[in-house]
Amino acid sequence: MENKGTLTTFLTKDGFARLLFAETTGIVQYASGRHRPSKTVTAALGRGLTAAALMGATLKDEGGSLTLRFRGSGPAGTMTCVADSAGNVRGCVENPTAELPPNAQGKLDVGGVIGREGELFVVRDYGFGEPYVGNVPLVSGEIGEDVTNYYALSEQTPTVCALGVRVNRDGSLRGAGGFLLQLLPGAEDSLAEYLEGRVKVLPSLSALIAEGKTAEDIADLVFGELPRDKMEEKELRYRCNCAREKYRRSIKSIGIRELRDMAQSREGAEVVCRFCGEVYFYPPEEVDAMLAERTEELRSAAARRKERETTPPEENP
Ligand SMILES: [Zn+2]
Repeated sequence: MENKGTLTTFLTKDGFARLLFAETTGIVQYASGRHRPSKTVTAALGRGLTAAALMGATLKDEGGSLTLRFRGSGPAGTMTCVADSAGNVRGCVENPTAELPPNAQGKLDVGGVIGREGELFVVRDYGFGEPYVGNVPLVSGEIGEDVTNYYALSEQTPTVCALGVRVNRDGSLRGAGGFLLQLLPGAEDSLAEYLEGRVKVLPSLSALIAEGKTAEDIADLVFGELPRDKMEEKELRYRCNCAREKYRRSIKSIGIRELRDMAQSREGAEVVCRFCGEVYFYPPEEVDAMLAERTEELRSAAARRKERETTPPEENP
């Protein structure tokens, strides 16, 4: 299957409710190929990537990015999923092979593998100025509930997030997707109640996706009689933004002592991107160059500091 998904946005004709639906099967399949996760982590990562894609699509600014970091107490460790407004999604899990037996309902225990205790961090980076960081405690580690809770506690827009990933017995992926349902400013309480009632009786999203339901089918199920328009359909893909130069900068910024040790070892430096598995190797000569650059940077920073200390403060006129 192609590394591709679709994000579809619907808006009710009165303009008071919107539904973003993401079909992410191809993306989650691609991510599984890169990370080789256990079945339960496949479900967790699939839900995380889908949630990030949905929330990334709500960023108004081009060039912005959104990061979801689930720091839970479960054996999978921290899971990080990133999306941008252009539809690029990527993610990684600290221990992708962590696995647990099915939960009491016989389902993959996503809440257990992520952890029911911990925190969800949401970072909105608009590409300029300081990124906006919000964090809330995890509710269940099941991802969808945690994102819904984040909106309830930290955002102005009442939002429900539902996510579903269906994994076959052999570990292959049947389907993945999810939605964000949002009430927009000015919505009446009656609309909120109507939608709440419909969402409550909705079959599980993973079942709907496994049945091959389309974005329109989901919009029918969520909105019922409410007239709405399909506003936008855009492509999603798993794409990492790593680059040789970016990792070079991060190696250079480790401690000067570590950098010196690395140069002395003559082994060069190797970095494996945790989002996509790409391997970057920097030969010993390049490590020498990094050490020289870093030494020079530190020297000139010290010189600037000294200059500031010795220059008397300007007097008020
Ligand atoms: Zn990468």
